[in-house]
Amino acid sequence: SEEKSLNFIEEIIENDLNTGKYKTLVTRFPPEPNGYLHIGHAKAICLNFGLTEKYGGYTNLRFDDTNPVTEKTEYVNSQQEDIKWLGFKWKNELYASNYFDELYAFAVKLIEKGLAYVDESSAEEIATLKGTPTEPGKDSIHRNRSIEENLSIFTKMKNGEFADGAYILRAKIDMASPNMLMRDPIIYRIKHAEHHRTGNKWCIYPMYDFAHGQSDSIENITHSICTLEYVSHRELYDWFIEKLEIYPSKQYEFARLNLSFTVMSKRKLMQLVHENLVSGWDDPRMPTISGLRRRGFTPKSVREFCERIGIAKRENLIELGLLEFCIREDLNKTANRVMAVLDPIKLVITNYEKGTEDLIGENNPEAENGGGTRIIPFSKELWIEREDFMEVPAKKWFRLAPGATVRLKFAYIVKCEDFVKDENGNVTEVHCTYIPESKSGNDTSGINVKGTIHWVSVQHAKTAEIRLYDRLFTSETPDAEEGDFKDYLNPESLTVLPNVYIEPALANANLEDRYQFIRKGYYCLDRDSTADKLVFNRTVTLKDTFKK
Ligand code: ATP
Ligand code: MG
Ligand code: MG
Repeated sequence: SEEKSLNFIEEIIENDLNTGKYKTLVTRFPPEPNGYLHIGHAKAICLNFGLTEKYGGYTNLRFDDTNPVTEKTEYVNSQQEDIKWLGFKWKNELYASNYFDELYAFAVKLIEKGLAYVDESSAEEIATLKGTPTEPGKDSIHRNRSIEENLSIFTKMKNGEFADGAYILRAKIDMASPNMLMRDPIIYRIKHAEHHRTGNKWCIYPMYDFAHGQSDSIENITHSICTLEYVSHRELYDWFIEKLEIYPSKQYEFARLNLSFTVMSKRKLMQLVHENLVSGWDDPRMPTISGLRRRGFTPKSVREFCERIGIAKRENLIELGLLEFCIREDLNKTANRVMAVLDPIKLVITNYEKGTEDLIGENNPEAENGGGTRIIPFSKELWIEREDFMEVPAKKWFRLAPGATVRLKFAYIVKCEDFVKDENGNVTEVHCTYIPESKSGNDTSGINVKGTIHWVSVQHAKTAEIRLYDRLFTSETPDAEEGDFKDYLNPESLTVLPNVYIEPALANANLEDRYQFIRKGYYCLDRDSTADKLVFNRTVTLKDTFKK
């Protein structure tokens, strides 16, 4: 088999393991529980968990929950469910908020070392003094207060003696650093807010940069992998670890996943949910893991997608078509082939006098042993697709037309003898005769036909609602467009067909089942289905538009 070349993170890890720098690889996936996970997170999940599956060691799930205002237990639960669904197991379920006591002690330690100070300057003053990327900043007048005074005020901050914003705690680094993040960054802020886990115990909360690296260090994370926006944070990450003299986790950055026709920030996806522009976080048009799941994507297809896009050091845009290619590949091998008629007209077999008969259908020619069989009832009157009949056939038309023959899938060859129109000129019925010797699997007719069409027996048909999805945005890069990204929503991203005819076997469909509606695409049952009303989602069309 073909040897896959290593990505740059695997190269670093193999080197670290070979030189004995680490004995055990420890990674983490650190979502903030402020929304549902999306396909970009899936990439980070596959990377972090994939590395410890490959090299041994383990991966922690750590909720990065240092911002009490935006975080909720609902999101913690959905994020866990999504990781499990992708097929990964974390070693420890951890929360940055577990470390609030330790983080507080780290802050005290920095103050005691003369490396942090409290500042009551206004947000504007702080911003002005920060300087610009080309001009150094200036020291705050509070920068040189005594260690004792800093400790005393910081204790009062913790004890709730001040209002939000009255003071901040800042690291004392270098107001002239070329890296703006090193210009005495804020490490603690006052926020009188209830936290989803620690309740009202705290009214000061650490900033991301003061929580993330230290949490990595507390957990002895060897390789802390994040996206490229954090390159400039690495210097600060290392500075805290060095000054606090704690376990030296190392940060590595890779290019985030950007997908065409998609937005991928929780904040923006939340706007779509809150403004009812989609039906919820798991709307099948959403790029969330729960949306993809409901749409009919399989864990395997999402993991295959993440594998194929690989790990890059530079930003790029991945084609949505690649994600669709991956699910098609998977479903082509696994989905049972069934029949549904989306836009029906009636086909009457004028010489069929048997009443009804049970035909046997092979479930999946791509599967071993054809994936088993099922019974498909056949009768004199069938539903067929309107588009499979042409009154005046085009060139190379191999479907129904006056005088033409086709095979009915799993059944007989029929010849079109006549048709009926309504007062508006629309065809309502096609009349055919069938050839009794042409039964599928036992055809002695000697007749060759070029076209095969699907059908559903009128008297046996069940009805279902079908939801057809198209891309959610009309722009390839809705984030990069002028104005609001929501101006680029595709008004035709959802089409509902309220009354589709499906073969009766589908009445027993389960949420986990995947189907190919022959000639019509891949479908799965939606959780909106009830005993009285089945609802199916189109996962993806059959036609592959992705150019490899
Ligand atoms: P969002 O803005 O969508 O909320 P985030 O980075 O703030 O993204 P987190 O919950 O902090 O979301 O992310 C958890 C992990 O997932 C981080 O390590 C982050 O780098 C990674 N991640 C987030 N978005 C992507 C993406 N598009 N591609 C790859 N990794 C991503
Ligand atoms: Mg984040
Ligand atoms: Mg975010």
